[in-house]
Amino acid sequence: MRIEAVKTHILDHKLETAFESASMSFTRRQHCLVEIICEDGTVGWGECLGPAKPNAAIVQVYAQALIGEDPLQTEKVWLNLYNRLRDQGQRGLTMTALSGIDIALWDIKGKHFDVPVSTLLGGRFRESVRAYATGSFCREGVERISDVAAEVARYRHEGFHAVKIKIGFDVEEDLEVIEAVRESIGPDVRLMIDANHGYDYLEAIEVGQRAAAFGIDWFEEPVLPEQIDTYAAVRAGQPIPVASGENWHGRYAMHEPLARRAVDIVQPDICGVGGFSEIRRVADMAAMHGVRLVPHVWGTAVCLAASLQFMAALAPNPPRRKPLEPIMEFDRTENPFRQAVVQTPIEHRQGIMTIPDGPGLGIEINREALNAYALKEV
Ligand SMILES: [Mg+2]
Repeated sequence: MRIEAVKTHILDHKLETAFESASMSFTRRQHCLVEIICEDGTVGWGECLGPAKPNAAIVQVYAQALIGEDPLQTEKVWLNLYNRLRDQGQRGLTMTALSGIDIALWDIKGKHFDVPVSTLLGGRFRESVRAYATGSFCREGVERISDVAAEVARYRHEGFHAVKIKIGFDVEEDLEVIEAVRESIGPDVRLMIDANHGYDYLEAIEVGQRAAAFGIDWFEEPVLPEQIDTYAAVRAGQPIPVASGENWHGRYAMHEPLARRAVDIVQPDICGVGGFSEIRRVADMAAMHGVRLVPHVWGTAVCLAASLQFMAALAPNPPRRKPLEPIMEFDRTENPFRQAVVQTPIEHRQGIMTIPDGPGLGIEINREALNAYALKEV
């Protein structure tokens, strides 16, 4: 079995209402899918976290080393590609592009052996997961507090057990938002806050201390991802569990925060951390250090499917009769191609997502949607 071609698909949609987190503004949704085609006609799909055009460019750099290779040799291929750009960067785009390729190779391997990727990873501990709703960004031209309160009320009515909201803009306004959200969702829905590294240390401490009264499950990316010392200090200086990891790509980036217990919850993104091959190693490291793992998920149904396959095979830690179950992040912001790219949408029902059990990622791509949402350069 040999790889014949590597293609990228950049999907694009102009948002009706622009929105922003503390660190990024979104006027469009753009995601990069990776398609790997084998000589026997088997096709695998992957997705890259982050800016679509740079990811597609790096995937094409890697592609030169992929043609003619055996796609079943995932570890050999991974190491070869990683070594090719090791000197230029072990993190960031080199890893997000490699992630999309690795996911596509595991999709091919699952189709070849006619089993889901989760079976290849060692077996399925679960057939479904509870999802939490991610949203509540700052929307352009909209009054923030009432807008976010109304949005989270919709998630509660849809059956989500938990919601995550965006903060990191302004301490006083963020605390008003948190209070309004807690009032809107009531006492029983779990609540997480995500600052997208918008605060400095003192702001993070103040928000953590004052927000704790509203019952917060975790405080995500309170400070800049480069500042591991500051993570440890925020963790020590306020009572809410600290989470991070979407911007730590590869096991080397994960090692220090895990070994130092700078976070309570680590959040690798399978489309950024290095695909199935690398997220398995990160999961083992997290388990070794007793740090809880909740994946970061931000992308199309390809990304959702890959994350679900990984979560199916994620071993309970610790194992017990009724183990602690992992929860799935489900982005609820505007993205019409999120589900359109697959024939059968990967949706939730009352906050529960079923893990696909077909071969590979368990999805079928809708090529009409790929064409409809293909980036059109002007
Ligand atoms: Mg986040």
